[in-house]
Amino acid sequence: MDEIKRDYVFHRDLTKKYPMITHGEGSYLIDEQGKKYLDGCSGAVAANLGHGIAQIAEAMAEQAKKAAFVHTLRFETDVLHKLAGVIGKMAPLHLNKVYFTSGGSEANESALKLARQYHRDAGKTQKHIVIGRWQSYHGNTIGALSAGGDVKRRYPYTPNLLHFAHVYSPYCHRCPYNRNQEDCVANQNWSCVTDIERTILELGPENISAFIAEPIVGSQQGAVVPPLDYFKKVRELCSRYDILLIIDEVMTGFGRTGTDFAVEQFGIEPDILTFGKGVSAGYAPLGGMIVHDSLIQGLLENSSGKFLHGYTYSGHPVSIAAGLAALDMYEEMNILQNVETQGAYLMECLVALQRKHPYISDIRGRGLLIGLELMKDANQQIFFEPREAASEKLNEICMELGGVFYPGSGSIDGHKGEHIIISPPLNITKSEVDEIVRLLDHAFSIFYQHIRKDESYESAK
Ligand code: PMP
Repeated sequence: MDEIKRDYVFHRDLTKKYPMITHGEGSYLIDEQGKKYLDGCSGAVAANLGHGIAQIAEAMAEQAKKAAFVHTLRFETDVLHKLAGVIGKMAPLHLNKVYFTSGGSEANESALKLARQYHRDAGKTQKHIVIGRWQSYHGNTIGALSAGGDVKRRYPYTPNLLHFAHVYSPYCHRCPYNRNQEDCVANQNWSCVTDIERTILELGPENISAFIAEPIVGSQQGAVVPPLDYFKKVRELCSRYDILLIIDEVMTGFGRTGTDFAVEQFGIEPDILTFGKGVSAGYAPLGGMIVHDSLIQGLLENSSGKFLHGYTYSGHPVSIAAGLAALDMYEEMNILQNVETQGAYLMECLVALQRKHPYISDIRGRGLLIGLELMKDANQQIFFEPREAASEKLNEICMELGGVFYPGSGSIDGHKGEHIIISPPLNITKSEVDEIVRLLDHAFSIFYQHIRKDESYESAK
């Protein structure tokens, strides 16, 4: 084969050359040298069934042969209705209508626009501000970026971002409000909730369109699970002030945390639920939003059923066929059971690993979405500075050892704090979990050996 010239692709980082992956098999990716990488993060928490699955590839090929592209503004396909039906049944009771996009950013962008249109159609023209949380990521398009709290990604675009408000998400391990959970519960006074109400009142409820949150924070915080009652309180506030609640399940949806959608675990119904990644098990660009019946009713009454929005590839039949095949497989494989069993086992192994590596200051998450927080010292007092890119460096070591995870920063205040997410394919086996833990153990030893010697991280390999 001719040598491939690598001069033309514009990656996120122009200075880097990444391993060239030729194919994948189950939980492994294989590069051009034949080196295997255990995929400990399902790509970017998307390849939820691993790699090289013929059943999904065949469903996509079948659809491509029948009708590869059909524009949903003019035609429909049977697969579109089938997949919407499956997703509608999985979603909370009153969320029944599904709008498809090509990914998570577009899904959230669509949700923000639908919320705005819903209020405007009802004569509430001022309701335009969205409240998001600093510890959150909702995508890279301007609306989604404005709602999210990824400081690094927001910074270059700040003059152009929409004037949305932000609060802190609950993080009881190191509360941004300096409270402790027992105290919040005993006094029924939760700073993370009163801060939302204060923000609403300060901005004026008549100006606020929506509150958006991930049920379990992914890339910006590393799988932090909120206290059980948090979302009930948020739901109450949103209903009281006529604010739509958008729950972003792009990372958590389709079994990742042990239930079809994570929101089930918190006993609330959002007004809009967005999804992406796992819906096609990463096989095709696909995402969307599931919309509460009351919003659909509003659209029918006030806008003749028209949502003033759309993308060329909404409901692309090949992507939809991938989604249908993936959701069939989740069910056939009884994937939720495996998430529960292997998630509990992985958590147990990681807790044991923490005893050996006291620099891991927190282990949290649900199902197969688990985050490890990293500190610079064994007494867990010193944070890594963002410029040290510690989690990225740790992941580079993992890649050298033949594994890959999802590094991230910003868990404490949106600026500081380093974590890695471990989110292997949902059909992972017990022996693969053992391999993940062995690999992390080795990688931590190498990484912290250098830190203990006070060497620069540049040489921490
Ligand atoms: N929301 C969440 C919670 C995500 O994790 C992501 C992607 N990491 C997105 C939205 C954006 O999705 P996409 O990259 O498919 O646009």
